[in-house]
Amino acid sequence: MKITFLFFLYFVLIANTVFSQDGNNTGTSSKGCGSERFTELLRKDSSFAKLEQMQNLQLRKKSQARNNLLIQKKVTSVNDSKIILLNAPPPAPLIDITIPIVFHIVNDNPDAITDQMIYDALVQLNDAYAHRNIYASDPSGVDTHIQFCMAKKNPTGGKTNGIDRIKSYYQNVDVDLEAAQLPKLSDWDPSKYANVWLVNSIQGEIAPSTFDCGKWTRTGYGGYASAGFGAVVSALSAPLVAHELGHYLSLLHTFTGMDCRNNDCTIDGDQVCDTPPDATNKPGSCSPAANTCNTDTISGPFLKDVPDNVTNFMDYTSCPSMFTLGQAQRMQDFISIFSGGSLLTSDACSAPCSDNIQASFNWNSNPYPIIGSTVDFVNTSTGSSDYEWYLNGTLQTNTTDFQQSFPSAGTNTVKLIAYNPTRSCFASYTGNVIVNCGVDARFSPNKRIVASTSNIYEDTVTFVNTSYNADTYQWIMSDKNGLNFTQVSTSKDYLNSFATSGNYKIYLVASKGACVSKSNIYSLQVNDPRQDAGITIWAVNCYKNDSIKVSFTVHNYGYDTIPKGTSVRFHDQIPYNKLMPTLKNTFYTTNDILGKCDQGYTTIIATSSPKLDSISAFVNEDNPSVEISNFNNESDYKNFRLKYKVSPSNDTTVFINDLINLKITAKGEPINSIQWVTNGALSCSNCLNPTLTITDTTTIKSFAKTNFDCFDSTFTRINIFPIDISIVNNRIDCYQNDSVLITSTVCLGNHYTAFKKPTEIKYYDEVDSLGNGTHLIDTHILPTSTTFTNSCSTIEQVIKKPSTSLVSYNINKNQSQFEKVLTNNQASASYTAFRISSSIHSIDLYRREEKAIQVDHEGDSITYLKWTPSIGLSCDTCLNTLLNINSSTSYKLNASTKYDCTDSVGINVNVYFQNTLALPNVFTPNADGLNDRFYVIAGKDVDKVKSFLIYNRWGKKVFEKNNILPNDAYSGWDGTTNGKNTEMGTYVYTIILEFRDGSSKTYSGTISLIR
Ligand SMILES: [Zn+2]
Repeated sequence: MKITFLFFLYFVLIANTVFSQDGNNTGTSSKGCGSERFTELLRKDSSFAKLEQMQNLQLRKKSQARNNLLIQKKVTSVNDSKIILLNAPPPAPLIDITIPIVFHIVNDNPDAITDQMIYDALVQLNDAYAHRNIYASDPSGVDTHIQFCMAKKNPTGGKTNGIDRIKSYYQNVDVDLEAAQLPKLSDWDPSKYANVWLVNSIQGEIAPSTFDCGKWTRTGYGGYASAGFGAVVSALSAPLVAHELGHYLSLLHTFTGMDCRNNDCTIDGDQVCDTPPDATNKPGSCSPAANTCNTDTISGPFLKDVPDNVTNFMDYTSCPSMFTLGQAQRMQDFISIFSGGSLLTSDACSAPCSDNIQASFNWNSNPYPIIGSTVDFVNTSTGSSDYEWYLNGTLQTNTTDFQQSFPSAGTNTVKLIAYNPTRSCFASYTGNVIVNCGVDARFSPNKRIVASTSNIYEDTVTFVNTSYNADTYQWIMSDKNGLNFTQVSTSKDYLNSFATSGNYKIYLVASKGACVSKSNIYSLQVNDPRQDAGITIWAVNCYKNDSIKVSFTVHNYGYDTIPKGTSVRFHDQIPYNKLMPTLKNTFYTTNDILGKCDQGYTTIIATSSPKLDSISAFVNEDNPSVEISNFNNESDYKNFRLKYKVSPSNDTTVFINDLINLKITAKGEPINSIQWVTNGALSCSNCLNPTLTITDTTTIKSFAKTNFDCFDSTFTRINIFPIDISIVNNRIDCYQNDSVLITSTVCLGNHYTAFKKPTEIKYYDEVDSLGNGTHLIDTHILPTSTTFTNSCSTIEQVIKKPSTSLVSYNINKNQSQFEKVLTNNQASASYTAFRISSSIHSIDLYRREEKAIQVDHEGDSITYLKWTPSIGLSCDTCLNTLLNINSSTSYKLNASTKYDCTDSVGINVNVYFQNTLALPNVFTPNADGLNDRFYVIAGKDVDKVKSFLIYNRWGKKVFEKNNILPNDAYSGWDGTTNGKNTEMGTYVYTIILEFRDGSSKTYSGTISLIR
């Protein structure tokens, strides 16, 4: 492939940066990289465009293969994009590549650039590509494994040092008009060498040239390059050369596209996946780095949005220091496909021999020969004395120097070969001698991005004449549509103020005598310089409740100044409608706003309604025709008014003693201060989210204030679940015969721990008479001091003894404290009165006969039981007992309960003798319980003892009873007379018995009293 080229770049670099700026009187100028513009020029050649497309396709396939691996890795990896990048294995490892490089020094005094300067620059360049020494600081950079060597073998096979010096006025080259000139001066086979042209300056203007606040920032060229063709640089700074050689190896600017597009990182932006999307070509801060795109994660390896890669050699910043792995891979991929990979096999890094020979010559005495002139070629070779001079491939002479005349116009190739002593090796040098009639028409416009019309922004462009050796000039220019060329000037430089915007074409014809030269045509775009107002509302605050404070920016997207006093009208509807009434207080700008500049304002507007919550603003309604366009003259803003809600929301019901967290949810502008008002104890009354323990239904009011004294307020009522009192009966006990003791359990539901009010219990003696006062037995009041343990309390109350067998009762029937659930408010207890009883009240018993006595029991348990007397009973503390006694006796059984209820049963026992009469003859009244009395023991046929008389031996009566019952020991004689013991001895008795049949009979006898 034979390629003629051109590349240009312009980089004028002063320090170690790709991008720099310096001021001049029209604003600011600076130098950037012209590779994009240069490549656009190259694409006008369809074969170049095709080749570029094919190369990009191949590079993308390789990139896609890598990126698929990255995507797979992304799915399973941790959330750190750096880690991903470092961990992702390159599918094809970077290989060590060394590319032969040649420096073409194009300069009016090319010897001013010494060999050592070139060698030093190469060391720096190689450090940059190796991520080494001063370029090793950024850990995300990599060693590209690409290095450059000074070419040691030139295209003719001769020895060289890789430095090619060319005296030429093209040391100042115009990128738009003269890009093709440098390779015409010299270029080495691009399939084997990296060509670098070093010039003095590059004339041109590229983005980011901008007009900003009425002032131009002009960016010139530091360098330019295009993939595979080489690089043009205006300085030897390593970042500049590394950048342009990056383009040479197919890299694009990291901000390519400047649109953050990242749908497919293998074709969007710079087509390298591990450089994050970047939307600016303006050099911003290096630390912290700007983050101009948030599309980083859409495709490619990034798991989160990361800042722009400001340290990348392919960005415009003041801190370039690295290439990424992806860029290194793309460059290696490019080398592998460019020209069939011929750079990989180039042997130009190896010298053909070790002899210290060097070939060079100059023709500085006649550097720009005209037709027919003679040129002296001065041999400056070293290490040899054996030369051959060739003209256009034909050997001319073996002399040291060479002289040649050129009869016709054209480019002639002159080659010098210098042999070593054995002719086993040679060095060579080739120069292109351009012969013409002596004039070269050249010019450069001093501005290439302009906006101008008459009366508004009339801008003047100076077309600076840089022609060689001419004395007569004609400037030819088209109309605003690029048609109808006419001569516009014959002066040396041409100055024109463009009165109408449009696309102008201009060229220069320069001549001297009969020699005429015509320059290339320059195409100048002149933009519409009118103003273009726009507006953005960026904040609205409610202001003292009756106004709003609007903060907005008026933009001037155009060039001409937006004059002071331009109107901004506000309307309470969106979209703005001119026919609708506007809000009061139209704002008028208070200062001029220069082109491509913004001005912020704040104004207070009266509101149409206290609820106003949306506005639209329209700038320059009065004079829209002065603008380039009006589509951007409106800005809307809504939902700015503070509106807030409190949670829990109004009428929320909670349990008593719950801790409530009050939370604010606000819309619109922020709350500046808040005041809470409530009866409860808030954790704080002026914080956003206080807490409150709810002990009763509570209303909480709040008042919130914004920065500018607007209010909103809320209230929220928190209800508590009502108390739920329940009662169950535990037991009922007889109490002191006339009362009962009720034991019950009262419990509180819904988290209550005490009564809210004294609580009434009403007792009734019939279930079905609940609510019927006629059966009310008693009422008790439980005080609020009643203590509850685990929500329950045991209540004991004495009430009047019921008249029925059931006591029922209820609690809080009067709803002195509200309850929702009443079904558990009542209890009842069946009641059986305490009673002991016997069906037999009288028992007939023969002497020595045994009978059982049975007593029944109902009601409460017996805690005390006693028969009186106990004599003759088998158990005197049992309900049931056996009776065996010889004397008639009246028994009584007494019983009582825990709470002093008592009852008794009386039983009379009548004892009889089996026969009519039995009388003892001796008795012993000594109180031993045996035979202590002398009494009548008789059978059932005896009705009564009519008369019972006892006399002593002197006939004195010691005892007498009449009409007594038989068998009753206590009716008998106890051996005393008048309360004194009667003497022992024998006594006479007379007893008259009356029988049931009405007859009587007298019995007499003696009885001995023994003590
Ligand atoms: Zn560039």
